[in-house]
Amino acid sequence: MKNRLGVIIIIILLISCYSKPIALLNGLDNNESEFVSEQNTPDLPQHFSVTLVAAGDNLYHDSLINNGLINGVYNYIPIYAEIKSIVENADIAFINQETVMAGANYGYSGYPAFNSPQALGRDIAAIGFDIINLANNHAMDMGAAGLYATLDFLNTIEGITVIGARRSGESARIVTRNNISFGFLSYTYGLNGIALPRDNPNLVSMIDRNKMAQEISALRPLCDFLIVSMHWGPEYVLEPARSQVDLALFLAEQNVDLIIGHHPHVLQKVDTINLPDGRKTVCYYSLGNFVSHQNERERIIGGMAKVTFTKEGMLLPTGELVVKNLNISEFGMIPVITHFDRRYRNTRIIPFSVYTQQLMDEHALRYEGSGLSMDFFNGVIKRLQTKIY
Ligand SMILES: [Zn+2]
Repeated sequence: MKNRLGVIIIIILLISCYSKPIALLNGLDNNESEFVSEQNTPDLPQHFSVTLVAAGDNLYHDSLINNGLINGVYNYIPIYAEIKSIVENADIAFINQETVMAGANYGYSGYPAFNSPQALGRDIAAIGFDIINLANNHAMDMGAAGLYATLDFLNTIEGITVIGARRSGESARIVTRNNISFGFLSYTYGLNGIALPRDNPNLVSMIDRNKMAQEISALRPLCDFLIVSMHWGPEYVLEPARSQVDLALFLAEQNVDLIIGHHPHVLQKVDTINLPDGRKTVCYYSLGNFVSHQNERERIIGGMAKVTFTKEGMLLPTGELVVKNLNISEFGMIPVITHFDRRYRNTRIIPFSVYTQQLMDEHALRYEGSGLSMDFFNGVIKRLQTKIY
């Protein structure tokens, strides 16, 4: 996506098929004649790619919390079983964790002040989600202490990166996969009126253009791609609001590559913002609900963003990689249905590509006269204006 003006040089990690240049780098090749021939080795083209998936609001109402209670033990794996392979096949998997997981002593609760069992965090990590976003309007539902307890808990899970909330330090996080580095930042429009603690006003990252511009410009030179998670926009509105469109343009102008939007609880379109200088930013305005027990038909269809990033360059005989091109080579959406039966039990997230009329006929919303139909789902998907997987 970015045809970098400057040359970014990265020392390539040990790659067996290019062992000779690396051997030279390490000074292990003592053969004089071979050294000369290595000097004449042409530059080797390099191509790396990484796939990211991103899921929207993981929103646990009381009845959904209880869906995970199986023989007295909380287990949320079955809810995610049918999308597990999608998550596993991605190199990076993002989720907006809309509820805190402060622990049993806070009491488990759904709307309006949510607190989910910590088993949920354990299980979404086990499914394969490794970027967990906490910058959303429910982050302070159990107060600052509840958020600290959530951070402490998530900190015990190996292999995950929490964004959007932190005890202290910088908000930016950098994750590297397959020689491509990704900078993550995350912001929320608000905290349902709950104030951040005076002694830690940066506990949750709030949308603030000055601060965002500063944080983005500090992070930009440190990563190949910069991704911003945005918890924004009015709820239940099917088109992005002016405020979202304006902020997306602002982020594009700050040189952000990808915007992952959520909070409206409904799917909104995917857009490519083209700047006059040729740069592009891909924006998912809203991924909708990933899972919830909201019972409006627009709120049971969500989407997983799927984005492929590529990095091309030349490996010099010295072992240095000269980056020629960074690009989002492909992107689209995997629509998913939150399926639950008329008793609000047996909740499962099911890719729309395998959702059947028979399943739909068993959905709670069919019994509630919500006008659920395949035509309705297809209409929602068409509105996304993007590639559908
Ligand atoms: Zn929200």
